[in-house]
Amino acid sequence: MSIVSFGRSTSKLKALVGIRARLVLLALILVVPLMVDRVRVLENTRARQVEQAASELSELARHTADAQREIISTVQAVLKSSAYIYAAASQQGRGCAIMRASLRVDLPWIRSLSILGTDGKIQCSTATNILGLDLSDRNYFRHALESHEFVLSDYIFSRAANLPTIIAAYPVSAVDGGPEAVIIAAVDLKWMSQLMTDRISRAGVSVFLIDSMGVILAARPEHQDSIGLPLKDTSLLEAVAHREINLNRESGSISFESADGEKKAVSFARVAGTKARLIVSINEAKMLGDIDRDILTAYIQLGLVGLLALLGAWIAGERLIIRPIRAMTDIANRFGRGDLTVRASNANMPYEFAPLARAFNMMASQLAAREREMVAANDRLTVIASVDMVSGLANRRGLQSRLEFEWMKALQTETSLSLMMIDVDHFKLFNDTYGHPEGDACLSRIGETLSAIANEVSGFAARYGGEEFCLLLPNSDASGAMSIGERVRAQVEQLAIPHSMSAAKVITVSVGVASISPSEAQPQNDLLEAADAALYAAKRRGRNTVIEHALIRATDQVISLAS
Ligand code: GH3
Ligand code: MG
Ligand code: MG
Repeated sequence: MSIVSFGRSTSKLKALVGIRARLVLLALILVVPLMVDRVRVLENTRARQVEQAASELSELARHTADAQREIISTVQAVLKSSAYIYAAASQQGRGCAIMRASLRVDLPWIRSLSILGTDGKIQCSTATNILGLDLSDRNYFRHALESHEFVLSDYIFSRAANLPTIIAAYPVSAVDGGPEAVIIAAVDLKWMSQLMTDRISRAGVSVFLIDSMGVILAARPEHQDSIGLPLKDTSLLEAVAHREINLNRESGSISFESADGEKKAVSFARVAGTKARLIVSINEAKMLGDIDRDILTAYIQLGLVGLLALLGAWIAGERLIIRPIRAMTDIANRFGRGDLTVRASNANMPYEFAPLARAFNMMASQLAAREREMVAANDRLTVIASVDMVSGLANRRGLQSRLEFEWMKALQTETSLSLMMIDVDHFKLFNDTYGHPEGDACLSRIGETLSAIANEVSGFAARYGGEEFCLLLPNSDASGAMSIGERVRAQVEQLAIPHSMSAAKVITVSVGVASISPSEAQPQNDLLEAADAALYAAKRRGRNTVIEHALIRATDQVISLAS
């Protein structure tokens, strides 16, 4: 990996664990446990519901079987009393009529009472349409005759009614003095379906009563069509038929997934005293539909809340932290580029950034003030650097820059420019005679004189160096300059500063004047050199004199004097 790409991946990694990522993580740490806990509670509730339903329904199966058993007990009691009545009444030859009349109407599940002779044919019955029906092949009949006891058939289909039924049989001969006959009761199983409907009304629950062969004898209204069909033909309980039907268990529960992918829990209980079993099947998906929907909603909420937390943290991080930091960085960069007028506005910034914004603004004001001070100090230094402290006039540097400026101006306005070079005569002797401080004082007075004249004639006076001065005269031709030069010479002489060693006995100056109409081609130095040459000529002429250089006025006689 190259250094560049390594650097890039490092900065990507840094961006990942940046402020926004940390905020997102924090939001998730806060939100996810709450949501996960909610899902866990719902999952637990679901598991409890499944468990509860299984035990509830198992209980119900047993309860239903017990209820069945109770009904059979009442049937047994009815058969015994009817057998007794029949036996007693038979001796008077009225057995059949009295037995028929004795059938109680408050026991609707007893569909009919019938007396079977030893040949198995119905001799007497509360249901007259079945008189003469031959039931000799029925096990319960033979068994009752042989055992002389109460016998209960398995669940069967009644030939007479074509309905699932059970037949209870009791030999009349078991009663003292009773004839050789068997009294049977056909028990209606509609009550069973009714019981299932009344007791079990949960969604997703199916209830079936099956006989020993696995034929459905009773079911809830929605499965009435399956009555009489073998259990294995109904896809609903196919698995139960295969797995459980042959097991000799009294009761139990199984859980399985049906062919159509539905999870089912099944409870079964044998109906006491019979081979029939009551089977209760629970479709978990239907029963747990509500809680499953809640769990799904919780998962969706978890996802959404997580996503919202993520987005919220990202946007909040961007708005509340990254953006203000970027704004501050931008301002700092502008400060760095020297723009100190920019100010951090804390109007759109979070409260916490206000002190930082204030500090930035304060820093900018202080920097601006300091910069102003520096500029002023610099200006002062520039002035100081251009001023001569002895004379109070501009120094050579000051003269140079002023000359450049006036030269340009004269070029533009096409006017002439004059310069005079002024040198104190025999100043060395003055110093020698009166001392250096006196010399300085003398230079200072000459400076004052020059300054006054410069002010009057709109000129610019400067100390060129040593005891030499210059007077720059913009917009002035040679004759004007000559008269000002003369004025300078005269006013210095009039100062009457004693100089015992000079011919005039006072301080005098020699003045060299040069004038020019500047052109692009001509160097500025020419003007200085010309003035200097004129000054030299003035010295040679005996000092205390003004000489004009013939730089411009080439015809002037002074040329010969200066050369
Ligand atoms: P000349 O008439 O030919 O100009 O003679 P001069 O003596 O004036 O000229 P010279 O060049 O020989 O001497 C110049 C003197 O000016 C030498 C120096 O002592 C004096 N001088 C230069 N600058 C200063 C200054 O700032 N203060 C004082 N007191 N003297 C200065
Ligand atoms: Mg000199
Ligand atoms: Mg001199």
